Amino acid sequence: DVTHGQILYLDDISVSFDGFRALNRLSLSIAVGELRCIIGPNGAGKTTMMDVITGKTRADSGSAFFGQTINLAQHSEAEIAQLGIGRKFQKPTVFEAMTVQENLELALAGPRSVWASLRARLSGQQRDRIDELLTLIRLGEQRARLAGLLSHGQKQWLEIGMLLAQEPQLLLLDEPVAGMTDAETEKTAELLLTLKGRHSLMVVEHDMDFIASIAGKVTVLAEGAVLAEGSLQQVQADERVIEVYLGR
Ligand code: ADP
Repeated sequence: DVTHGQILYLDDISVSFDGFRALNRLSLSIAVGELRCIIGPNGAGKTTMMDVITGKTRADSGSAFFGQTINLAQHSEAEIAQLGIGRKFQKPTVFEAMTVQENLELALAGPRSVWASLRARLSGQQRDRIDELLTLIRLGEQRARLAGLLSHGQKQWLEIGMLLAQEPQLLLLDEPVAGMTDAETEKTAELLLTLKGRHSLMVVEHDMDFIASIAGKVTVLAEGAVLAEGSLQQVQADERVIEVYLGR
């Protein structure tokens, strides 16, 4: 049963591809405002789980709720994005030929035509929001720079800013610090800690130092189900977790 205070509730979800069970009776829930880390070996089902949450893949069985009342199985991928679940894939996708600020303006305008958005005058409120987002993603000084000229880490922050412009309640991030420098990784941890509380976050990562620095609850997936859950320290000390990572 769905208890109060959960933003995401997955119950007994299974997904098969040609007879192979990518998700095998997976149950997992995320509290409102929580920052949850998802780890697990390759093939554990992390991507498939995010595909089910965002409506890209349909579950064969089980249920998935967003908040108390939204049954995700009843909505299309586009509707789910509109309902407040933002997803960031591993590779940054920003408009390289536009400036940082223009990228944020487009995201803030939502799904309109590019030209309509850029021609439209921003309201004072929208201007304030863009300034706020630029500060949050640490790109205030880069606002007039072409996005294509940013570093890899800066592009990742810009894309997070673009997602935030759409005010998602739940943000799914796939390996946000892959390919980042140590300094960028540290700043990303600070950014995610700032977002926590205002948004709920699910972060798939392999970088254990990064996971330690954001200090959220960790869920370990293996063979399409939850193997262990707890603090990073707890799951790292768990025999079953050590086994799936070492393949013994
Ligand atoms: P992870 O993200 O944890 O590495 P995935 O969710 O990508 O795991 O994959 C789980 C398993 O499901 C893998 O064995 C993968 O090969 C398989 N799988 C994922 N998507 C498909 C698909 N569209 N068709 C067939 N098999 C798939």
